[in-house]
Amino acid sequence: EPALYVVATPIGNLGDMVPRAVETLQTVDVIAAEDTRHSAKLLEHFHIETPLVAYHDHSDAQRTLQLVARIQAGQSVALISDAGTPLVSDPGYQLVAAARAAGVRVVPVPGACAVIAALSASGLPSDRFSFEGFLPAKQVARSKRLADLASETQTLIFYEAPHRIHATLTDVAEIMGADRTVVVARELTKTFETFLSGSAEAVLAKVAADSNQQRGEIVLLVAGAPKQQLVELDGDAQRIMSLLAAELP
Ligand code: SAM
Repeated sequence: EPALYVVATPIGNLGDMVPRAVETLQTVDVIAAEDTRHSAKLLEHFHIETPLVAYHDHSDAQRTLQLVARIQAGQSVALISDAGTPLVSDPGYQLVAAARAAGVRVVPVPGACAVIAALSASGLPSDRFSFEGFLPAKQVARSKRLADLASETQTLIFYEAPHRIHATLTDVAEIMGADRTVVVARELTKTFETFLSGSAEAVLAKVAADSNQQRGEIVLLVAGAPKQQLVELDGDAQRIMSLLAAELP
């Protein structure tokens, strides 16, 4: 049955390419890729000879509809991005939304994803988390975003550029607190994979002291704010509270 396959590719380690991804990319009629030159290398490594077409979210609506029309005409299309899972801070949303709107089958072929890999090994609470994508690049907007998130109790996860990690950690320490626990997960699945964890202040100091920590690909995780303690009132306090409450306008 014709479909749009949303296929994850490795985030560094080619051993993370799952067999179903290889099989899918080999058998579809065309692969829509964020950057065809970049993906050509991956496909070559896995002996995949399927034709590639460029696709990104700035592709015009017509390109999106053309791909959907191909599937409606009986072909299968695979969507890949440069690394990891498409649509996660990567192109594909417009295409998947258009395919769904047209009633076309959309099939995920899951695999590597930096946010999940980082969270799974970070040691931070993973029962609830909020993926926040990339923070704004400009300092004023970034500070505002961090201030908006400061009282969030879920684990917060960001993608960050290596040349901004120092500035961002400085802002996190200032806005969310020097003692807030953070984890910098760097170069996941690659040779120089490192996890730095500790207070925002301590991790900032480590990053400042070692310029290698300002290179490569980075996921920044920030522990959620402590949950508000619900105070149990004893009998007297309860009576006083209700007396006071009665006086409120
Ligand atoms: N779609 C991808 C995914 O599933 O993770 C993410 C694409 S986004 C454009 C690229 C960002 O993801 C990088 O700037 C970095 O923050 C993060 N990232 C990707 N690969 C990584 C890796 N191997 N280690 C750490 N972070 C990585």
